[in-house]
Parts: sequence; structure tokens; C-alpha cells
Amino acid sequence: MSNKEYDVIIIGGGPAGYSAGIYLARAMLKTLLIESNTVLSQLMLTDDIENYPGFPEKIKGYELTSNFKKQAESFGLEITEGLAREIKQKNTDKQKWSIITQNKSEYIAESLIAATGTKARKLGVPGEEELRGKGVSYCAVCDGAFFKDQNVAVVGGGDTAIQEALFLTRYAAKVSIIHRRDRLRAEKLLQQQAFKNEKIDFIWDSTIEKIEGDNKVENIKLKNLKSDNITDLGCKGIFIFVGFTPNTNYIKEIVKTDDSGWIITDDKMNTNIPGIFAAGDVRANTYRQIATAVGDGVTAALTCEKYISRIRGTEYI
Ligand code: NAP
Repeated sequence: MSNKEYDVIIIGGGPAGYSAGIYLARAMLKTLLIESNTVLSQLMLTDDIENYPGFPEKIKGYELTSNFKKQAESFGLEITEGLAREIKQKNTDKQKWSIITQNKSEYIAESLIAATGTKARKLGVPGEEELRGKGVSYCAVCDGAFFKDQNVAVVGGGDTAIQEALFLTRYAAKVSIIHRRDRLRAEKLLQQQAFKNEKIDFIWDSTIEKIEGDNKVENIKLKNLKSDNITDLGCKGIFIFVGFTPNTNYIKEIVKTDDSGWIITDDKMNTNIPGIFAAGDVRANTYRQIATAVGDGVTAALTCEKYISRIRGTEYI
């Protein structure tokens, strides 16, 4: 076996990937986890985590990631930096998969676990792309501190939008949450915290028409969906949290996905291709929580271990 040949390769360094890594390394399978330094997991981008069981005092996203990684490495998981670009079937006597990364490294394995998570969905309005990094942001933890004592806007009504809006109140003078309906989707506890935070106000039933500014965000044109009125909201930053899309470009030609690119699996994390499993937020029709991603990762690892035993004829009942 060459250095770059493995029993299993896990793609993605979030909670699903690392949990799978812990179990596979303990099962004594030669396992590589490929993680990207440029596409950070949602966990890395999260500040305080209050709902992951076992941490009553909260834990920071980067700390939990680092704990997962340390634990996996202690059992022998190999980790490398890279961005998966393409997966190909290898022409050998046994079925093997080849993963090519952005920097043209090739890794080979009998089995793969896709745990590549998600990326922020764009609004697709004028000004969003032009002013990205100049006041338009998709990460409060990364950019919040640039907006000390300034007015900022948050778009969205889900868990992410409300959690990030609460985080932004540490820095901003005022945080305006713009939501397209008159009711939030976020969990009740987050809603309660936002409603009683004096720095947060809500602009209901409204969408963004345009983000304006001369080389930095200065104004947002809002449309009220009930009255069709267009109004201006002066602000220095706009944080967009309107859901996610899956990171599946490298694999969507190989495994079955739904129309939006989320990978379809059964409840044992099998995709439609034997030997390829998926876990965590990248799966279709799943709850997207750290704890559910961990559960998916463990399930994928156990199913993968059985699969390898079966194809090698070493399965026990
Ligand atoms: P989400 O639950 O899909 O919510 C997206 C929000 O953006 C919704 O309020 C939606 O409005 C709004 N939206 C979507 N497209 C829009 C558009 N074009 N213009 C304006 N608004 C738009 O996404 P999320 O909040 O990022 O959460 C994703 C998953 O991660 C969820 O499963 C969530 O539970 C989980 N999560 C959990 C936590 C936690 O446990 N603390 C934290 C973060 C995320 P509508 O409500 O009208 O559809």
C-alpha cells in the first residue's frame, strides 16, 4: 500500500467527519481525514455553543473542533489539509476510489465518507457580490468586531440569524433583524433572548431589494411585502443568514443527490453507491445540529466498518 492509500477516507473536518474518524481509527482501519483550511466548518464559525450535551458551561466552536481533532488523532486518525475537487473510480481488481484535491494530490481508498457540510446561501440581490467583504458578511464571528458602535443589519429568521444577531450585539450599537415573515423560525429560547435584547430591533415582512454603498455598505433598500413600500435602512454592515447550500460539487456526479444537491442516504448513512457514505449537514432531509452530525458520523463509521469487513470476507455476525 502506498503512503496515500487508505482503507477509508473521510472528506470534511466538522463534527460528523471527526466523529467518524474517532470510530474508524479505533476500529484499526487506516483512515485519512481531508479537511480544508479555506472552507471552515459551520462549527468553527460558531461562537458559544449552549446546546451540545455535556458542556453545561457552553463551549466555543473552535474549542469543540479542537477537542474532536485531538481525540481522533490520539487514536491514530491521519489528517491532511486539502479541498476535494473530484472523485473517480479506480480501475483495479477491487473497487477503489480516488480523490483528487485542488492542489492535485491524489488519495486512494476502499471506502469514502462525505462529511463536507454546507456553505452560506446568497441572497442574490444587487450590491451583494460587489460589497462582499466591504460590509456584506456571512460570518459574525469572523467580521463582527469590525462594527464596534455601528448599526448593522441581519437578514433571516432561523437559528443562525438569531444566534449571530445576539453575538453582534457585543460590538454593534444596534442590530436590525430583517425577516420576510412576521414570525421567527428560530428555536424559542433564542427568540426570547433576542426579543429582550435592547440592542435588537425587528423589521418584519421585509426583503432586501438592493445593498448600496460606494466601496463600502452605506444603505439597504428594503421592500415591505405587505404594503410594497420601499424604505432605506442606513447601516455599515449586513450579515446574511438565509440558510445553506451543500458542499457537494466534488461528488454530485457520483452519488445521488436531491434537486438542490443534498446527498441522499438511508438511515445507516449509505448513499446509492456501495462503499460511499455521507454524514452530517451535507445529507438531504436531516436536522442540522452538532449532536445529530456527531450521531451521523458514528453511524457512517459503523456502517463503513461492516462494509469493509463484508468485502474482505472478514465479517462476523
Ligand atoms: P434555516 O433554518 O433554513 O433558516 C433560514 C432563514 O432565512 C429562514 O428564516 C428563512 O425564512 C430565511 N430566508 C431563506 N431564504 C431567504 C431569502 N431569499 N430572503 C430572505 N429570507 C430568506 O437556516 P439556518 O438558520 O441557517 O439553520 C440551518 C440549520 O442549522 C437548521 O436546521 C438549524 O436548526 C441549524 N442550526 C442550529 C443552531 C442551534 O441549535 N443553535 C444554530 C444554527 C443553525 P422563512 O423562515 O420564511 O423560511
